[in-house]
Amino acid sequence: TTPRQFAAIVLEEEHAAHNYHPLPVVVASGDGAWVTDVDGRRYLDCLAAYSAVNFGHSNPVLLDAARAQLGRITLTSRAFHNDQLGPFVTELATLAGKDMVLPMNTGAEAVESGIKVARAWGYRVKGVAPDAANIIVMAGNFHGRTTTIISFSDDEDARADFGPFTPGFRSVPYGDAAAIEAAIDENTVAVLIEPIQGESGIVVPPADFLPAVREITSRHNVLFIADEIQSGLGRTGATFACGLVGVVPDLYLLGKALGGGIVPVSAVVGNSDILGVIQPGQHGSTFGGNPLAAAIGLAVVRMLATGEMQERARVLGERLRADLAALIGHGVVAVRGAGLWAGIDIDPELASGRAVCEALMERGVLAKDTHGSTIRLAPPIVVEAADLDWAVEQLRAVLTEL
Ligand code: PLP
Repeated sequence: TTPRQFAAIVLEEEHAAHNYHPLPVVVASGDGAWVTDVDGRRYLDCLAAYSAVNFGHSNPVLLDAARAQLGRITLTSRAFHNDQLGPFVTELATLAGKDMVLPMNTGAEAVESGIKVARAWGYRVKGVAPDAANIIVMAGNFHGRTTTIISFSDDEDARADFGPFTPGFRSVPYGDAAAIEAAIDENTVAVLIEPIQGESGIVVPPADFLPAVREITSRHNVLFIADEIQSGLGRTGATFACGLVGVVPDLYLLGKALGGGIVPVSAVVGNSDILGVIQPGQHGSTFGGNPLAAAIGLAVVRMLATGEMQERARVLGERLRADLAALIGHGVVAVRGAGLWAGIDIDPELASGRAVCEALMERGVLAKDTHGSTIRLAPPIVVEAADLDWAVEQLRAVLTEL
C-alpha cells in the first residue's frame, strides 16, 4: 500500500462504519472495464460493483442521459408527476414483457416491495386468511440486508444479533422443486428465487428447476417472484436469467445495473392483475421513480432493447468459462456460471478466496471472494476479449505462485 492509498484508507476506516472489508485499493476513476487508483495505477474491474456496472464505468451513453437530466430536474417526489417516469416504466415493462412497474431505489427495497405486493395479492386476490400468508424461499439465498430480508437468510453473519425476525417465510433447498411443492399450502402466496444464486457463489440450478417451479406455482395459484437484481439485465447473456430456460415469472425484481452504475434504481415488474393491488398510500419512496433515475433507467432499457449487450455477454462468457475450465486441476476445483459471470472454487488447501483476490489485485485485477474459497468474476460486459484473456492469465499466474 502506498502512502497515498494508506492515508485514504485510514480516513475511511476511522469514520465509516466497518460493515465491509474492502481490498486495500483506493479507486479514483474508471472508464469501461478499467479503474484507476489514487496513484494512477490501473486495474481491470472484474466485479463491476456486483454487476451494477454491467455497461462499464463512465458509459458515454448513460452519462449523456444523466447529464442532460441533471440540467433539467432531478427530484420531484411522486407527490407530482414528472416527464421521465412514464417513458421509463413503459419501456421497462415492454422489455420484460409485462405491463406495470413499481419503481424503487435499492435492490433490498425491490425485494421488500415484492414481498408486500405478494402478501397484499394473497389477501386481496387469492383470499388468504388475514396475517396467515407465507412465502417460500431458498436455502443459501441472498436478497439484501433489511430486517425482513435477513429474517429468511441462513447466513449466520448476516443475522446474528439482529432479531427479532419477521415471520412468514419457509426455506427449502435450492434446486429442489419437489421440496417447494411439498412446502406449499393454502396460505402460500409466493415462491421467491434467485434464478442463479449470486452471493452464494454463482450457483446455477439444474436446467429443469425453474421450469418445474413455473409449473408448480401456476398450478397452485402461487406467485413466482424472480430476484434478477444481480442475474438480470444482460449479465448471463440474456435479458433475464429466467429467459435462459424459457421461464417467465410473475414478478421480476430488478436493481443494480438498472441504474447504470450511476444512481440506485430498482423496480418490481409484473402485470397489473398483481401489481395493481397496491393503491395510493400503501407503499412508496421519496426517491423512487425520480426523474434522474428514470432518465438513466430509460437509457439502460434502450441499451438492452437492442440485445447487443446480452449477445456480447454470451460470447465473451463462453470464452471466459472455457479459459477458466482449463485451470481445473491447477488450483481450481470447480467453475460455474452463465454468460459473463463465473464462480471459481479455489482449492481450499491452497488458499482462501481473499488471498487469491489480494494476489490478483497486486497483478492489476480486481475480483471479490465469496464464502471462503470461492471467487467470482463479473467484469463489465464492455470488457475487451484480450483484457479478459489477460485477467485469466493473471489468475493462472497467481495459482502457480501459491
Ligand atoms: N438481491 C440480490 C440477488 C442481490 O444480489 C442483491 C445484492 O447483492 C440484493 C438483492 C440487494 O441489493 P441492494 O444491495 O441494492 O439492496
